[in-house]
Amino acid sequence: MTDRVFNFSAGPAVLPLPVLEQAQQELLALPEVGASVLEISHRSKAFSGIHESAKESLKSLLSIPDDYHILFLQGGARLQFSMIPMNLLRGSDSPADFVLTGTWGKKAREEAEKEGAVRVVWDGKKTNYDRLPTADQLDLAPNSAYVYIASNETIQGVQFSTEPDTGDVPLVCDASSDFLHRPVDITRYGILFACAQKNAGPAGVTVVIIRDDLLKRSQDSLPGYMNYRIHADNDSLWNTPPAFGIYMVGLVARWLQDEIGGLEKMYEQNRDKAGMLYQVIDECDGFYRGHAQPGCRSVMNVTFRLPTEELEKKFLAEAETNGLCTLKGHRSVGGIRASIYNAMPVEGVRALRGYMRDFLAKNAG
Ligand SMILES: *Cc1c(COP(=O)(O)O)cnc(C)c1O
Repeated sequence: MTDRVFNFSAGPAVLPLPVLEQAQQELLALPEVGASVLEISHRSKAFSGIHESAKESLKSLLSIPDDYHILFLQGGARLQFSMIPMNLLRGSDSPADFVLTGTWGKKAREEAEKEGAVRVVWDGKKTNYDRLPTADQLDLAPNSAYVYIASNETIQGVQFSTEPDTGDVPLVCDASSDFLHRPVDITRYGILFACAQKNAGPAGVTVVIIRDDLLKRSQDSLPGYMNYRIHADNDSLWNTPPAFGIYMVGLVARWLQDEIGGLEKMYEQNRDKAGMLYQVIDECDGFYRGHAQPGCRSVMNVTFRLPTEELEKKFLAEAETNGLCTLKGHRSVGGIRASIYNAMPVEGVRALRGYMRDFLAKNAG
C-alpha cells in the first residue's frame, strides 16, 4: 500500500481506512452482484439494499424518529442554502432568523435573502467570529419561519456544543463539518443537513434529515429538484441519486456503529483529540494563539495563529516534511487549521501535538 500521510484537510477530508479498504475491495464486484455500485441501476434490488442499510445505520446512530425523512441529495451544502428558503420561506409571512457565527452562516443568509425576509438575530462580526451567542443574547421571535444556525463553523473553528432552544420554531442546522461527531437530539431540529465530504463520506452527496410536517410548506410551483416533498415522496429516487456517495456514507455509518461503538464513544474520542491540541495552545505562553474563545472551541477544526506569517509558513513547510499535511488555514482567515474529523486517528493528533511542541521549543522567544 502507498504510504498515507496524516491528512488534516478541512474537506474533502480523511475517511476511515477500513471504509476505503472495503470500497476498494468491492469496486470490481459487490458480493453476490458481480458489478460495483457504480454500475448498477438505482432501482435494482442490490442498490435498494445499500440505500436502506445506509438509512437504517443513520437512523440507529442518531435515533432518528419515524416522523423524519432521510434524503440523499446533490448540489452540496450550498444547494441547501437555497433549497431551505425556497421551501420554508417562499410565500411565508414571517421572516427567517439567522444566527451568524462564521463564514458559512453568512453565505447561507445571502441565499435566503433572495427568497424572503431574513432577520439576523445575532452576528459575531464584531469579534471576528471567535465566539457563539449566549442563550440570553438570542432574541428569537416566536413566529419566525425558522431559526438557522451552522453547528460548526469550519473556517473559524467555533462550534455549538448544544443546540439553542427555539421552542416551536423549527431549527434548521448546517452540520456539514460536524455531522455524526456526537449524539444529537434530532427532535430539536426541523432540518439537519450535511454535505458528506467533511465528516461522513465523499463529495457529491448531502444528507438532509427533515421533519415530515415541514414538507407541507413546499409549494408545487418550485422546480422539481428543489422541492423537498418530491424527494421525500420518492425516497430520494426522483432522479438518479448519488449512488456511490450513499454507499460510502453507509459504510462510514456502519464503521461508527461496529468499530467505534456509536456516537457517544466517537464524541469521547473527538473531545480527547481536540483536547490534546488545545492543551498545547493553552500552555505555550501565547506562541500559538487560538482563534476561538475557549468556551466556543470546535472539536473538529482547531484554528490558530503563530506570532508572524513567516513562522506560519515555516510551520506548514516543516509539518509537510513530517507527514502532517494540509494544515493551512482558510484563505479568508489565514493561520493554521487542523481539521480532526471522526476519521483522523488519535496517532495523527499525537504526531501533530509532538510537532507543535517541538516547533515551539525551537522557535519561541
Ligand atoms: C464545506 C461547508 C459547506 C459547503 O459545502 P459544499 O458541499 O461545498 O457546498 C457549507 N457549510 C459548512 C459548515 C461547510 O463546512
